[in-house]
Amino acid sequence: MATVESKAAQGTNGRGAGAQIEVENPATGEVVAHVPDLDDEQVAELARRGRAAQPGWQAMGYEGRGRVLRRAQKWLLDNSERLVETMISETGKVVEDVTLEISYGGGAFGFWAKHAESYLADEKVKSSSVFIKGKRLTLRYEPLGLVGIIGPWNYPFVNSFGDAIPALAAGNSVILKPSEITPLTSLLMAEALTQCGLPEDVFQVATGRGATGAAVVDQVDMIMFTGSTATGKKVMERAAQTLTPVSLELGGKDPMIVLSDADLERAANLAVFYSMQNSGQTCISVERVYVEEPVYDEFVDKVTEKVRALRQGPAEGPGSNDVGAMIFPKQAEIVESHVQDALAKGARALTGGRRRPGAGTFYEPTVLVDVDHTMKAMTEETFGPTLPIMKVADAEEALRLANDSAYGLSGSVVTKDVARGEQIARRMQAGTVCVNDAIMNYMALELPMGGWKASGLGTRHGQGGIRKYTRTQSILISRMHLKRDIHMFPYSATVTKVLGRALKLLYGRGKRD
Ligand code: NDP
Repeated sequence: MATVESKAAQGTNGRGAGAQIEVENPATGEVVAHVPDLDDEQVAELARRGRAAQPGWQAMGYEGRGRVLRRAQKWLLDNSERLVETMISETGKVVEDVTLEISYGGGAFGFWAKHAESYLADEKVKSSSVFIKGKRLTLRYEPLGLVGIIGPWNYPFVNSFGDAIPALAAGNSVILKPSEITPLTSLLMAEALTQCGLPEDVFQVATGRGATGAAVVDQVDMIMFTGSTATGKKVMERAAQTLTPVSLELGGKDPMIVLSDADLERAANLAVFYSMQNSGQTCISVERVYVEEPVYDEFVDKVTEKVRALRQGPAEGPGSNDVGAMIFPKQAEIVESHVQDALAKGARALTGGRRRPGAGTFYEPTVLVDVDHTMKAMTEETFGPTLPIMKVADAEEALRLANDSAYGLSGSVVTKDVARGEQIARRMQAGTVCVNDAIMNYMALELPMGGWKASGLGTRHGQGGIRKYTRTQSILISRMHLKRDIHMFPYSATVTKVLGRALKLLYGRGKRD
């Protein structure tokens, strides 16, 4: 049994005597580390330090900050083995699933180092108002100060640490509260950033449980939250007490629609990979599939064959297994309850349908058919390696069912007719839709990503993905003016009449229906 011995854990990050949290490898059941469970006062101390360090970081400018981020990009590549090991030790993922996270990180460090300045550059604004003649208008972006990031356990790099990168690039200090289940990746990244020249206390990790997350909400200038819809609502409610802005990336129940003209081999590969990859623990994973009746049987056969062939188990080197553990034991219970509910209501499991016996927390890759919207497996976020497939008469029925959800995170359409695919995509109630693809939008850092309906508020990536970590300041500078403007005191009947006529001249003409 090990405790977190990293410098990060001993220094600012992970600091804190008192209660400790056990970190377990869910693939083996082994306790791999202990981290502090920070209380309110300890979080307040992190906030004080973060605020004190922020002006110096901001003063380094885009170039100075970009240098640190680019060094971190190199660190990631030079230390990928250590990062892979750390991530696997706390998630029980297979090697390829964590490698995907590192690929994202490699891209993200470079992307934000390169684009932060142009996304946050001052903007000259033109006005049509006659009152504004001779004045210069500028819109500028100022870092908020101290940003709080609260992340889930399913992607300890991508969805926890990943959001810190644009926040730092914008010139903020960050407190990251990772999930109590997976705090080690964030602590390692704190150590990495220190090695790369990030000034002390600019990035701090507040390890702990839900209460630590709530304490972070109380201390910061903005909260970037990724997690369940239920916790997202609590975070927003708490943030309202201090009028702290929030950006929420929440749950999903993402549909895939397979039309009868689809390349069925690709459709089956898309459905299997994007439902089972990361053991289905991806907010934008394929959670349900609607298939047009003429190709339903063939699609189901292909999918079932591919899912049966998946190898499941702990990571034993690259290519050793396809599907890893369930990271959070409680999530395995949710998956179990959704499958049981579906089976009790008449669904059939063509493969899987149970927990894998033996050590570790594994749920067998599962294909469910004869499903409908009375079943939780079709309406609630399962977040596990399950693929429920439903037969539909046509695209209209598929679309109606796809949109019959409280969630609206993402979706996909598979068809050879890409124009029709796009038309269907445009009618899907989801923040992102892929045609003949799924999830890959996440790798396009230029493309905003965020949920509709109960799936969230705000976006990550793209211009908005860094502007949300700033506040805007509008500046008006009067360069050419009289000693006294015409609308100033003392008021006079003549001027009022002239202004009234001018108003009519300006806005009173033109065609109207
Ligand atoms: P949770 O909502 O349970 O937890 C998310 C984070 O919030 C954790 O760090 C948790 O701490 C913390 N937390 C818990 N209670 C509070 C509170 N009262 N105030 C502040 N913080 C709190 O989510 P999960 O970790 O279970 O993650 C899975 C969920 O995340 C799924 O619904 C998934 O869809 C969603 N998700 C969404 C993504 C998106 O981009 N839309 C991406 C990835 C995941 P602790 O773990 O210590 O309890």
